[in-house]
Amino acid sequence: MKISSVVVIGSGTMGSGIAAQLCNANIPVTLLDLKTEISEKAKKKIFESRPPLLIDKSKVDNIKAGNIDEDFDIVKKADWIVEAVVERIDIKHNLYEKILKTRKKDSIVSSNTSTIPLKILSAKMSDEDRKDFCITHFFNPVRYMGLLEIVSETTNDVKKINFLKNFCEDNLGKGVIICKDTPGFLGNRVGVYAMQVAMTEAIKMKLGIEEADAVFGRPMGIPKTGVFGLYDLIGIDLMADVLKSFLKELPKTDVFHEVVQEIPLVKNLIETGYTGRKGKGGFYRMNKKDGKKILEAINLNTKDYSPSKKIDLNIDEKINLKELVSRDDKYGKYAWSVISKIILYSSSLIPNVTKDYNNIDEAMRLGFNWVKGPFEMLQELGVKFFVEKDPQLKINEFIKKLYDKKLETFYGKRQIYTNLETLGKVKQLAKINKDNKSAITYEHKNYKIVEFNTKANTLDYDSMDALKKASDKNMIIINEGMQFSAGVNLNYVMDFAKEKNWKAIEKFIHHFQMTCRQLKYSDNVVISAPSGLALGGGFEVLVQSDYVVSHTNIVTGLVETLVGLIPAGGGTTNMLFRWMQSQEAKQDSDFAPQKVFDIIGYGKTASSPTEAIPFKFLLEKDKSIMNRNKLLSASQDLINEKKDGYNAPKQPTFKLSGSQVRDKMLQILENLFKEKKILEHGMEVGKKLAFVLSGGNTTIDKELSEDDMYALELEAFVQLIQMEKTQARIKHTLSTGKPLVN
Ligand code: NAD
Repeated sequence: MKISSVVVIGSGTMGSGIAAQLCNANIPVTLLDLKTEISEKAKKKIFESRPPLLIDKSKVDNIKAGNIDEDFDIVKKADWIVEAVVERIDIKHNLYEKILKTRKKDSIVSSNTSTIPLKILSAKMSDEDRKDFCITHFFNPVRYMGLLEIVSETTNDVKKINFLKNFCEDNLGKGVIICKDTPGFLGNRVGVYAMQVAMTEAIKMKLGIEEADAVFGRPMGIPKTGVFGLYDLIGIDLMADVLKSFLKELPKTDVFHEVVQEIPLVKNLIETGYTGRKGKGGFYRMNKKDGKKILEAINLNTKDYSPSKKIDLNIDEKINLKELVSRDDKYGKYAWSVISKIILYSSSLIPNVTKDYNNIDEAMRLGFNWVKGPFEMLQELGVKFFVEKDPQLKINEFIKKLYDKKLETFYGKRQIYTNLETLGKVKQLAKINKDNKSAITYEHKNYKIVEFNTKANTLDYDSMDALKKASDKNMIIINEGMQFSAGVNLNYVMDFAKEKNWKAIEKFIHHFQMTCRQLKYSDNVVISAPSGLALGGGFEVLVQSDYVVSHTNIVTGLVETLVGLIPAGGGTTNMLFRWMQSQEAKQDSDFAPQKVFDIIGYGKTASSPTEAIPFKFLLEKDKSIMNRNKLLSASQDLINEKKDGYNAPKQPTFKLSGSQVRDKMLQILENLFKEKKILEHGMEVGKKLAFVLSGGNTTIDKELSEDDMYALELEAFVQLIQMEKTQARIKHTLSTGKPLVN
């Protein structure tokens, strides 16, 4: 069995996402729709998508576009045909008839349906065809969502299903969970139920939508879009269709029915074109007042919009479910009501929907980006606490058994859907050190693992301490959370800035530099294995590791200038050194500083390893991995390959032309200022960056050490953080997530 050619039929949201991911895996793929223009348009959308669906945009033409009338013969050659047309059974049935008549023997045919049962899709098929037909349920956006549910039945050829599972795991990088043919499979069955509970309870308890989203969000380990924000993102009309299907498919006794009834407000929103972000708005909308964009939120009672309020729950950034549900206010009551219902519902699905509760947790993690699934939540709360908190709670068989047996720590293995040696599995086996509040260190085999564990894995003094302490052994810096690291913790820096404690800031940045140097020059192999954001300080950790084993979905680069700073944890120096190794730099000593001035000055970023290499954010020696679950084992293999012959790099020296190259950079800044592309403070930051990259007060005949360069970085950083306009930029970014131009 092999898959070396794929046809995707239906070039809408999902078809184009699937085709793009196949293109990312270098699998030849053809995208067919009713008309070639539609598939061509889909390719254009793929090319322009943000965040990008393609790892390497230049490969877009590897996706062939066609139509189902003139180009259908391509199906004859395909090893796998994926149907991703509209959710209409008549259209799907007609298409299958045509595909099955045309396809080659043994090819796999699958549907991306989210709601139609496999037995209905395959109702008209012969037993022979049924063996090769299954559901491959991808999540949107396909490149970024980890989950793929393969729905199969006893009618399927098991070998083929396993082959497809391995293919999608290895080539498409998906976490593949095999599901039974039950409504909504696993992800949507629990995920959509959770959304409906969160919505109906918010209405019942008369919470504002911002209040509900503030609780059913980060405090529960759920993305900050919450429920109403997620509704807007998915599309309120699409959600209504999904709910209709649940109503139709689920037995009347299923408690899902309690939360699936049509809500008049939702109906009204759809009818008036308020279908979410793709429409005029939804529960939230952008409004313009006096030329200013304002985010507004709907009032669930009056249906009026008013400026969205920021809700402060006054809690620590670390998730503490027990504390949250024990609060004696409306937020605690809401949290308990929602969490308890989700746990009860999920556990009622065992064993009929799945015998493996772990798969439900993983589906929620991979398909909905939850930090913990319902069963992990139950474990965290404690079974006794859960059962005894509310005497009204109608507990089910699953929970009763745990309670009666006094099983508090019932949770067994993690990530049982895959045979890979994942970080999640290794964390259960390894020796743990939890002493540090910003990172956890694990000891496993011949290496240590450092996992940052702050919000967005931002870095502070303690994060650096953890790295420093772990550098006595080979080390892998890796994380299960969404982001490798969004950079230095700016709140931490601003707390010192508010007190004008510049010494403390200097000490922290110096510690950062010295820690990263230790990673670089220790005799042990240090590997960073990033996924998600590896920005600013996060990138500085990565650039000073010996190797990077990167997930294909990363966003990396040095973005400090956007907040009025320059990279001072070794980022400026190391980028300069990397560019000094280029051919052009050998001819022209001003080439490297100018190049890095351009990259750092504009805060350029790359959104895949392929994009990162031309910037030299990553090097050819680094590895790029499609499946996140393989990052740890690939890093471990690299340690074993390199550890014996490993020699730490030599310390570089720098010959820079000082004012000669600086004048050229200043000229660029002048021009940008004249063209109003930068304002006064942009000019200031640019000048400081130019000073560092030009080597300060030096001339080309002098040799600067790495220490000299670090000192220049540090000095510039400490000067910039003292400036009011830098602080204004930081404050703005912290409160809006966007850069301030000043
Ligand atoms: P879409 O409306 O974006 O795209 C459907 C495409 O199918 C359109 O381009 C349409 O022209 C084309 N089409 C219609 N009839 C066709 C035919 N006979 N032959 C070829 N092409 C035809 O839909 P979508 O959101 O991409 O959904 C596709 C499938 O994936 C559906 O079964 C849906 O339930 C499922 N799904 C959607 C999502 C999601 O988030 N959108 C997630 C998971 C699964």
